[in-house]
Amino acid sequence: MSKVFNETLYDALNQSFRIDKLYFEQKTGHQHLMIFHNAFLGRVMTLDGIVQTTERDEFIYHEMMAHVPLFAHGAPRRVLIIGGGDGGMLREVIKHAPVEQVTMVEIDGAVVEMAKTYLPKHSQGAFDDPRLNLVIADGMDFVRQSEERFDVIISDSTDPIGPGEVLFTDDFYAQCKRILNPGGVMATQNGVPFFQIDEVRDTARRMGRHFADQTFYSAAVPTYYGGVMTFAWGSDNPGLRTLDADILRRRFQDAAIETRYYTPEIHQASFALPRYVSTALAEN
Ligand code: SAM
Repeated sequence: MSKVFNETLYDALNQSFRIDKLYFEQKTGHQHLMIFHNAFLGRVMTLDGIVQTTERDEFIYHEMMAHVPLFAHGAPRRVLIIGGGDGGMLREVIKHAPVEQVTMVEIDGAVVEMAKTYLPKHSQGAFDDPRLNLVIADGMDFVRQSEERFDVIISDSTDPIGPGEVLFTDDFYAQCKRILNPGGVMATQNGVPFFQIDEVRDTARRMGRHFADQTFYSAAVPTYYGGVMTFAWGSDNPGLRTLDADILRRRFQDAAIETRYYTPEIHQASFALPRYVSTALAEN
């Protein structure tokens, strides 16, 4: 009888994945880490009982969280990734030739080491890229103390519980704004609004205090149950979010990046929000 991984999504709602082969399970210094194989989704990583990423659909999330801010910026040289321990975000970021350095600040070194071993299709060697500066630390501590400056900041964190909670605070957004270069862009993982609309409201209020242009864009990632997930967006130049399709198409063609989800058209369309989200934001 196969073992089953049960994800408790909400009080009366679970989703379960058959564990066809367990690769790794350990309580690290920060969280409960599991990596297992599921015949339908490929390899799956969970943290504290929450699905973080699966081989089958990770490309949607990583392409949209990397390419939307990077193509919008247009000339990103220094990128900061907070979290991202599985290496999928790093894989997509280093595809951008203008990027000269990627600083990745991941709180749990075990996630990086186990992802390198058991999720090789996520990083695809990205951890060996000479442009990487890997820092094992709390992202909040890093941004609070950093004297560096970045063009794009991507917060690829867990949900706002446990170690990830601090990455959804007013102080975190304030510190990220402080270390962004002029013309910089920030994007963050911001949950599934159909079931977590308060996460959208909270981020809009907190992030909106520090960025002249704060909104959300979205994509549906199948294993993040509940329909589209939102990515929070922050910059001081609304023009970065409303770039002409021709400009996006030219940047995408010049970059010659292989994608399976991202297109310039989806980039533009992803900022169109369902009415229940825009209504909730208007009520903020
Ligand atoms: N795609 C996933 C999602 O949408 O939920 C996120 C994937 S990634 C595995 C999340 C990473 O954030 C984990 O590796 C976790 O260790 C890291 N993390 C959580 N809290 C953190 C913090 N305060 N500072 C830095 N990294 C953190």
